[in-house]
Amino acid sequence: MSLTLAIIKPDAVGSGKAGKILAHLESAGFTVRALRLTTLDKTQAGAFYAVHAGRPFYDELVDFMTSGPVMPMVLEADDAVAKLRDAIGATDPAQAAEGTVRRLYAESKGRNAIHASDSDENAAIEIGFFFSMHERLGL
Ligand code: GDP
Repeated sequence: MSLTLAIIKPDAVGSGKAGKILAHLESAGFTVRALRLTTLDKTQAGAFYAVHAGRPFYDELVDFMTSGPVMPMVLEADDAVAKLRDAIGATDPAQAAEGTVRRLYAESKGRNAIHASDSDENAAIEIGFFFSMHERLGL
């Protein structure tokens, strides 16, 4: 078993889709090991997406991710990183496979419902970004 980080993004939380997305992920075989509802400020969102600093969509991404509450969560499964990337689908929902979270629930390439870590190394960093040792003691 391994861990990954998902974030249900402000578009999905704001339109009341968080519960459906959580149920979708649980049905797909993930176990929720930590979960929070929080709102990021620009410094936090900018730091989380620092790898994209300088990209044309960076400012829009930071604005979007600070536009309302988000729901970060630690998910556990066999090969969790790859399994979650498969479950969420391509960045642009128009390109995402049938039955994926983004195909079902995302609005657009920017407002795309969910984030998922893209490697085990980044999953460890991103889990540490949102969850303290205290909250992770049970992991
Ligand atoms: P992901 O790993 O599938 O989330 O995609 P990336 O790491 O490439 O991009 C991070 C996030 O930036 C995406 O999930 C989108 O929210 C946003 N993003 C990526 N490309 C674009 C774009 O062309 N336009 C806008 N507005 N947002 C984008």
